[in-house]
Amino acid sequence: MKRTILPKILGLVLIGIAWTIWPASTAFPLSLFIGFAVLSLLTIPVLSPRSSYYLPTFSSLRGPSDRVALTFDDGPDPRFTMKILNHLESENIRAAFFVVGSRAEKHPDLIKAIVDRGHILGNHSHRHGLNFHFSGPKALRAEFDSFDAITRDVTGHRCQLFRAPQGFRSPILADVVKERNLHCIAWSARGYDAIESRPNKILQSILKDVKGGGIVLLHDGGGLGGSEDRSGTIEALPLLIKEIRARGLEFERLDRLIGVEAYSQ
Ligand SMILES: [Zn+2]
Repeated sequence: MKRTILPKILGLVLIGIAWTIWPASTAFPLSLFIGFAVLSLLTIPVLSPRSSYYLPTFSSLRGPSDRVALTFDDGPDPRFTMKILNHLESENIRAAFFVVGSRAEKHPDLIKAIVDRGHILGNHSHRHGLNFHFSGPKALRAEFDSFDAITRDVTGHRCQLFRAPQGFRSPILADVVKERNLHCIAWSARGYDAIESRPNKILQSILKDVKGGGIVLLHDGGGLGGSEDRSGTIEALPLLIKEIRARGLEFERLDRLIGVEAYSQ
């Protein structure tokens, strides 16, 4: 919350100056404008997934690299996750799966398969509900505790990598993530595959932005604010891997790419 203080103070000072210098007919609309500007300034970092204003966030490796990390959100999903795991295995690629705790609870076999095959788990909240973004610190801590209890059962550790649902991070969420020493992860290329089912479109969106050191966002789970079907993602995946390799890039697991620990005790 510390980072919200300066814009608020600045806004109040400017409003104070406006009322000192100008009559009410000018100062009042000016105050509304300043209020709106401050509100925008405070909201833009919340809605910008790559912003590090409230919370330091990795959206790619800083520095040159010929490696790219694949990440999958919203699973595990019994309709799609295993197909993705099988394909990654055939390509000898290790990825990161930002799973939803309540889904992990229903499908521990898939969580185990992810870990057993050498991929890493990340925290993508326990419920992935919209109310997550309006929760206070107490509710957020409870959400993180629920997630940790479920994934710890499988991994024996706590997931240290966190990706916020929709990528939104309020100052309150930022404080909770910091107090738990989690690494916040965004992305540098995305397929929009939570809403896009045409493999070609998914492919184009990613290839437009992907480069060495990049973090690619895909989805193995359906139905969390987007469409149910992830068959477009599954169809796009082999083409994507081929295209990225054709550019002279290779795949690296996210934690190794950015040099952080995926789990803690
Ligand atoms: Zn998500």
